[in-house]
Amino acid sequence: MKLLQDKIKQAGKVLPGNVLQVNSFLNHQVDPQLMKAVAEEFRVRFADVSEQVTKVVTAETSGIAPAVLTGLVLNVPVVFARKKAGANMDDSVYRAQAFSYTKHTNNSLCIQKEFLTAKDRVLIVDDFLANGQAVLALKDLCDQAGAQVLGAGIVIEKAFQEGESKLAAAGVRVEALAKITKLAPNVIEFAD
Ligand code: 5GP
Repeated sequence: MKLLQDKIKQAGKVLPGNVLQVNSFLNHQVDPQLMKAVAEEFRVRFADVSEQVTKVVTAETSGIAPAVLTGLVLNVPVVFARKKAGANMDDSVYRAQAFSYTKHTNNSLCIQKEFLTAKDRVLIVDDFLANGQAVLALKDLCDQAGAQVLGAGIVIEKAFQEGESKLAAAGVRVEALAKITKLAPNVIEFAD
């Protein structure tokens, strides 16, 4: 997706540890027009199943912006897995663990059972794919609910990491809008 690649080249900052910072349009300040374009591109990439999607599922915080716009474009609700269960949520949630690539800690993700059921057909959306932990945890939550995962729409994939192969092994179809093949100080290279 050229618009997204141009924005990454113009505003992305490469940090140590193969981390790309995109705080000016995705992870802190959000560019709603770009997120809308991202959502429309997800609809095109998942055109064969987009009519079947009943829910978009993501993880707080950084997945919420692209997920909400995708829900708007597909006209379905958006559920974001929370890192902490709210008051009185303890017995009524599905829980899964994800090791955070950027924070190097284990995150517990949870979704209240009433918002994800066996009737749901889910499109997972997230901001980044690195080693696949976040998407696998979201799939785990869907599996616990008996919901079917139709695919994962990723805004930025770091294709030199193992996320895509891990998700392929788990049977998750991935559509990534910007595939980065190399990150180095002042270097961001894309697959196409
Ligand atoms: P994974 O779970 O696939 O290893 O990592 C994906 C998650 O970690 C995403 O939800 C994202 O929040 C975070 N993440 C991984 N790599 C990066 C990165 O290079 N930049 C930013 N901003 N977040 C990342």
